[in-house]
Amino acid sequence: MTGTSPASQLLDTARAMNDAGLSVGTAGNLSLRDAEGFLITPTGLPFDHCKPADMVAMGMDGKTRGKRAPSSEWRIHRDIYRARPDAGAIVHAHSPFATAIACHQRGIPPFHYMIARFGGATIRCAQYATFGTQALSEHALEALEGRSACLLANHGMVVFGHDCTNALALAIEFEMLCRHYLESMRLGPPQLLGDAEMAAVLARFSSYGQSDD
Ligand code: 13P
Ligand code: ZN
Repeated sequence: MTGTSPASQLLDTARAMNDAGLSVGTAGNLSLRDAEGFLITPTGLPFDHCKPADMVAMGMDGKTRGKRAPSSEWRIHRDIYRARPDAGAIVHAHSPFATAIACHQRGIPPFHYMIARFGGATIRCAQYATFGTQALSEHALEALEGRSACLLANHGMVVFGHDCTNALALAIEFEMLCRHYLESMRLGPPQLLGDAEMAAVLARFSSYGQSDD
């Protein structure tokens, strides 16, 4: 997506999120950090009906520029950018497998080594609060402590990455991990990895991948 405007990148990623099966309709929202604050998807508009000019520029003070109202979850996006300098783009989705687990108000234990991909030995589930509220943002930030992904109780998931492409790729991996967890539970509770195994994976992930990625 190099060469396209940040607004086009954000909209392309939003459409790709739906094409990947992570959300439908107007559920879910995305944002991309910029020099003034961040760009965020508009509230209540299907991404297929949006143009790049519908993306909303927002400052860290919550003030917007442009004709559209921002996603109702702008507080989650703003608060993650404030608290987490490593966040360059954020995906919030009501993806089927993550949401199914989140509806049980439970996190995910270390049933698979890929849990560590998101920064820790577990995935937490943020306490329930009404969508679009400051309370939901605070619960999400707490669940994201030391992590780049969490579940939102009775709602969905939040994942961040260093740019749009990375955030969407991680969101797709996260959804697959949730699917693996649900599938593994068909045979009863899965065997969990211990602290030492997860510490070894976390150490390995700190240098995993291509150095220019
Ligand atoms: P918006 O259309 O306001 O982004 O809301 C969708 C959503 O997922 C709320 O949690
Ligand atoms: Zn939502």
